[in-house]
Amino acid sequence: MLIDTGFNREECRTALFSGLKSLDASLDKTDIFITHMHADHSGLVSAVATEKNVVYCGEVDAKRINWALSPEYWPENLAYIGAYGFPVGEFGEALLQHPGQKYGPDNEHDFCIVREGDALEAGEYRFVVVETPGHTPGHICLYEPDKRILISGDHILGRITPNITMFYKGLPDPLGQYLRSLDKVDRMEIGVALPGHRGIIEDVHKRIAELRRHYDHRLHEVLTILEDGLMNAYQVAGGITWDLSYTWDQFPLQQMLFATGEAISHLEHLRGQNKARRLECEGTLLFERVK
Ligand SMILES: [Zn+2]
Repeated sequence: MLIDTGFNREECRTALFSGLKSLDASLDKTDIFITHMHADHSGLVSAVATEKNVVYCGEVDAKRINWALSPEYWPENLAYIGAYGFPVGEFGEALLQHPGQKYGPDNEHDFCIVREGDALEAGEYRFVVVETPGHTPGHICLYEPDKRILISGDHILGRITPNITMFYKGLPDPLGQYLRSLDKVDRMEIGVALPGHRGIIEDVHKRIAELRRHYDHRLHEVLTILEDGLMNAYQVAGGITWDLSYTWDQFPLQQMLFATGEAISHLEHLRGQNKARRLECEGTLLFERVK
């Protein structure tokens, strides 16, 4: 079984196919498991799917992978994030640069839908599907109970934190969902997690505690920023402390987009907790702290 595919770009295709070759793995005998919709995980799905293998994905993200190919998808998201104050004039360019747009799958795919508790066998491994929405609305992990292995996708990462964003239309409270999914995984017995990026995570529960602290800290920071008065999510994003070497004015447009999505998810979470209030002013959504 192959977990995730990498971006739909030549460098990734070459690396993936040379890896499969070095393992002497035939694609016809290799099923594919897509943890979530992001292009760096699903982009090469058309290249690795054959008549004989099966490509598994959760229902929500499977729909979104195909939906992202429709002409309405990016303009709808543009309008959505523009309402939160992102400078839409520049956003057209950002959209064209968005890796989800540039390096996603070429064609729609008919995924084999998996749900919570479904079992998937691969050699001596018997995995169970664990739904972990948050990083994306349909993110799924795989758990091997006997070997206590979690294939964590982008749900739990080691030295970086997963982007929790409201970039997509129609998500109620992704940060709330994410924190609940963290609690869910924390209740499981896990010896080791194999994430979608960077190194293996040896102490998963310690990492979960660190991630919780990170989001607590950032929620607090967002509330502090709102003490300056009414502002939109783009302005809030500019006030957050980012672990990057440049100032907000120097942020590449692409990073600004991710940062604004992250700010929206925190603001909407605070709104759900009645700690922030949202108002609409001339078509822009503004937030203020509830005293
Ligand atoms: Zn991702």
